[in-house]
Amino acid sequence: MTGTKASKLLLFGATGDLAQRMLLPSLSALAADGFLPERLGIIGTARSDLDDHAFRNLARAAVETHLPANRRASMADFLNRLSYQPLDVTAPEGFDALAERVGEAPGGLSIFLSTAPSLFEQTIAGLARVGLAGDGARISLEKPLGHDLASSCTINDAVAAAFPEERIFRIDHYLGKETVQNLIALRFANLMFEPLWNARHIDHVQITVAETVGLEGRADFYENTGALRDMVQNHMLQLLALVAMEPPVSFDAGPVRDEKVKVLRALRPLKAGESVTGQYRGGAVGGAFVPGYDEELGRDSEVETFVALKAHVDNWRWHGVPFYLRTGKRMPQRLTEIVVQFRCIPHSIFKQARTHPNRLVIGIQPRENITLSLMAKVPGLDRRGMSLRQVPLDIALADALSGRERRIAYERLLLDLIEGDQTLFVRRDEVEAQWRWIDAIRALWQEEGLTPRPYSAGSWGPSASIALAERDGVSWHE
Ligand code: NAP
Repeated sequence: MTGTKASKLLLFGATGDLAQRMLLPSLSALAADGFLPERLGIIGTARSDLDDHAFRNLARAAVETHLPANRRASMADFLNRLSYQPLDVTAPEGFDALAERVGEAPGGLSIFLSTAPSLFEQTIAGLARVGLAGDGARISLEKPLGHDLASSCTINDAVAAAFPEERIFRIDHYLGKETVQNLIALRFANLMFEPLWNARHIDHVQITVAETVGLEGRADFYENTGALRDMVQNHMLQLLALVAMEPPVSFDAGPVRDEKVKVLRALRPLKAGESVTGQYRGGAVGGAFVPGYDEELGRDSEVETFVALKAHVDNWRWHGVPFYLRTGKRMPQRLTEIVVQFRCIPHSIFKQARTHPNRLVIGIQPRENITLSLMAKVPGLDRRGMSLRQVPLDIALADALSGRERRIAYERLLLDLIEGDQTLFVRRDEVEAQWRWIDAIRALWQEEGLTPRPYSAGSWGPSASIALAERDGVSWHE
């Protein structure tokens, strides 16, 4: 459900990396395709001392670098919407000039905080003081929303002091991805999956988020974060919630988020032996040698760059079905996918041939595709009985839906922020349920004295992570 369309967008951190790589190109693409409200003005702000002209130049360069040429139609229209107001959010007096610059926003004001979360509290206090947090104002926040439950509550409380929950848009950019939304379509726009989507028919689920990159110059950030908090707490638990949730009554913010939070609250606290952590050492990725994490960092560290978990959702639908999650840096390939492994058929009538259980693979990146593996007869005559083989029923989305533009996740999310639709944003109770589960894992690691096991860059993590699944007779999908 959408609210009123904002007439102004105020972008904090407008000169930063996220703004240049994602937000400005996404806004430009939305403008080019006629999605932005006709009179929407976009005000950028950061400390850098730019004027409107310099900011437009920065935006033009960002769009030319990060948006394909065929999506850059009417860039002039986009650039004309832009203005800029310098502001150091730690100096409260600067907010008066910002308010003056923003001026009236008759349709409402959408605010996007693309700055470090340590600046959120001061920013929100400044906005409230100068009247930019009033009824028509919505606010969007980038991750990380805290580093544990307590710090997340502090951020959430600071935001709640000025904005009610129905005007807070917490971003998990995975929810803006086409394939992630397609998972919802697959489950709830087709009849054939729902009767099978439970513990009777599903053996286990795997979720993998693999990166090939290492530290990327973000040592300070990563040293205080690690793989569990960087990837599992947010993106992977959101994917798990979408796979496991009950059918919502409608595709609207309330019903969808009600169902997701039930799953997150049903996550069973992990027990000893249900998690493995790792840290990469030097090795080859994509044919090139890369140094180990500690070498990149320049000192020893006990931060995990890999984690594998065996999770359970304690409810009727998922009783006894493990959800294996793994994520790591310096893996052999960049890959995000969900694998739903069905159970074996109860009885085989094919005496000579082995049957394999069906498997649904939902590829999220780099390839967006859905593959259902089925058993089929191998053509030919055979007196010893029918030969069978596993064959993929492949829905390569890019091919099946060719002619439709694949959009940047932030295009969806910015448009929803401007139009006031919270369905693809994370509610406070979800974030807090996520942190509660993650904090318990970290407490367990501390209790057990668990330290990351080394793995070679370019491998799929420590061998213990393979054992974690193989103990149950499960192989990671590769
Ligand atoms: P960044 O490149 O460091 O940009 C930070 C922005 O904040 C810059 O525009 C900076 O501009 C501004 N800023 C810093 N201090 C300020 C102050 N005191 N007052 C006003 N503005 C200030 O960071 P980023 O990578 O864009 O990330 C922004 C947020 O998004 C962070 O919370 C990050 O965790 C999150 N995020 C980023 C990515 C990504 O891919 N980059 C992905 C997911 C989440 P000036 O220096 O001109 O002030």
